[in-house]
Amino acid sequence: MLDMILSFIFPNKCPVCDCIMSYNSLICKSCMRKIQNLNLKKELFKINNKPVYCVSPFKYEGLIRKSILKFKFKGKMSHAAFFAYMMSQTINKYYSNLDFVTFVPISSERKIKRKFDQSEILSEKISKIINVPLKSTIEKTADNAEQHNLERNEREKNILNVYNVIGKNDIKGKNILLIDDVCTTGNTLKECAKTLMTAGAKTVYCAAITMEDS
Ligand SMILES: [Zn+2]
Repeated sequence: MLDMILSFIFPNKCPVCDCIMSYNSLICKSCMRKIQNLNLKKELFKINNKPVYCVSPFKYEGLIRKSILKFKFKGKMSHAAFFAYMMSQTINKYYSNLDFVTFVPISSERKIKRKFDQSEILSEKISKIINVPLKSTIEKTADNAEQHNLERNEREKNILNVYNVIGKNDIKGKNILLIDDVCTTGNTLKECAKTLMTAGAKTVYCAAITMEDS
């Protein structure tokens, strides 16, 4: 009964097609049939000869791309639950022995403007699903241009030295899961992983909602 009342006041909408669905669903049945977890994994780069991998349930295309844009720019928070659930499936498939979950932060200026940090919200949900604690370990010290507004060759330069580690003692010798929303060139994840490794992290494992699989 309570579920019925709640779903009347706060209708639970499908994060992909916006149809109204039952109160405890993450995605509607019709979209579930169209969308599958691709369980992508690739080596993003090497740090000190150690490969750093990224895993994602999806590619950045079609229905998923539209859904991510709503999540990132229109603050559709119900999307976070679905994305976090799918990402957790992929994370559990490939990674184990994680000490904590952390995320690629946005600058405080941008957080004030947007009112939320999408990677932080994903991380909170993933941390609960995979039962690994969450720690905020990186801060963004400069409000640089948004990566998606830049040409590929400008992106690497744009984020050099804009990240800083908070609480170095917590990081030493740890296996860290690093969350970002979308992995395009991998430059942002690389810069954050480098920052964590320089601060003494043992291994950094990356995950995003989508990535390019080539
Ligand atoms: Zn749907």
